[in-house]
Amino acid sequence: MEAYLDNSATTRCTQRVRDAVVQVMMEDYGNPSSKHMKGVEAERYLKDARETVARTLKVNEKEIYFTSGATESNNWALIGAARANRRAGMHLITTAVEHPAVLMPMQYLEEQGFRVTYLPVDSKGHISLQDLEQALCEDTILVSMMYVNNEVGTVEPIEEAARIVKKYNPDILFHTDAVQAYGKMRIYPKRAGIDMLSVSAHKIHGPKGIGFLYVNEKVKIHPLILGGGQQKGMRSGTDNVPGAAGLAQAAREAYERLEESREHLLDLKKRMTDGLEQMDSVAVLSEKGDSSAPHIVSASFPGVRSEVLLHALEDRGIYVSAGSACSSNKKLPVSAVLKELHLSPELLDSTLRFSFSRYTTAEEIDYCLQALRELLPVLRRYARH
Ligand code: PLP
Repeated sequence: MEAYLDNSATTRCTQRVRDAVVQVMMEDYGNPSSKHMKGVEAERYLKDARETVARTLKVNEKEIYFTSGATESNNWALIGAARANRRAGMHLITTAVEHPAVLMPMQYLEEQGFRVTYLPVDSKGHISLQDLEQALCEDTILVSMMYVNNEVGTVEPIEEAARIVKKYNPDILFHTDAVQAYGKMRIYPKRAGIDMLSVSAHKIHGPKGIGFLYVNEKVKIHPLILGGGQQKGMRSGTDNVPGAAGLAQAAREAYERLEESREHLLDLKKRMTDGLEQMDSVAVLSEKGDSSAPHIVSASFPGVRSEVLLHALEDRGIYVSAGSACSSNKKLPVSAVLKELHLSPELLDSTLRFSFSRYTTAEEIDYCLQALRELLPVLRRYARH
């Protein structure tokens, strides 16, 4: 048996996503910039994809830009908006637990002379709204806060945070990295005061190498990628039409039965946490219930190094991740995010993330729990010698 419990790292494409991608690659393969029929046909796919994604967020299709994924979306949102608004101020705010795709552009902006405040989090990964309020100043031009933390599944208070920011100064831009939230919850940027929002398709059963950035039409932003002027000159490069078709299909499927999938994910999460809590010396780090992300369970197994446990599970066909699997830095021994939660070194060293998709089954969870029950006593005994 196999149990793929690493869906926050990436997901398998659905059959209909595959069909949509193949149709465009093999039949409707024109370049949307071409003036002939094949180009017009390809342009129609892009328009459909833009409309589909826009509908899931209740925004205007003109506000959706396709990118190579959330890393590019985050880089563009932060660097592009900081450059375009630098005359209004040089201060940016983010959280200490962002994905490197936010933290690294922030670091780059610091090197360019911007000042960045990194909001700390509590032991569950929540930022404090008071801290945010105190960090805002006359010089602030942008706040970037992730919707759902990719390592522990904490949902940040995005709507409240955006409200505070906009009340302080409506011109301050609010960006959210919604990679782990999109397709798992309903997000309405206009209502929530979100000006920019980043998404990657491969986290919702779409293809890799495609994502989008929602940019409210009022936002002043410079392009990062210059060239042939595609996407209104804001993101040059031949449009990834197969990717966009796949992303649109994945978004349609994710939002078609969102509530049903969410219930299923919450059941899986409960099954997993209940099982873990019945074991000796296991600490579940993720919050329970439906105020947290339904698809992520992070847990520590003191006495066993996470890497050892990860590979022992892998030997049984169970795939999970240790630390941040979305970061390619395989040598990074402990997760910077988990460090921010002030875990003891022992817990830090022994944390695994189990992440589910709507296709994950209760049997896969039970198979994983049974493997843990068998492996933990053996590995702990071995670790002591
Ligand atoms: N942001 C978050 C929260 C993520 O989990 C990931 C995952 O990889 C990314 C950004 C980067 O996405 P991508 O690698 O698809 O660009």
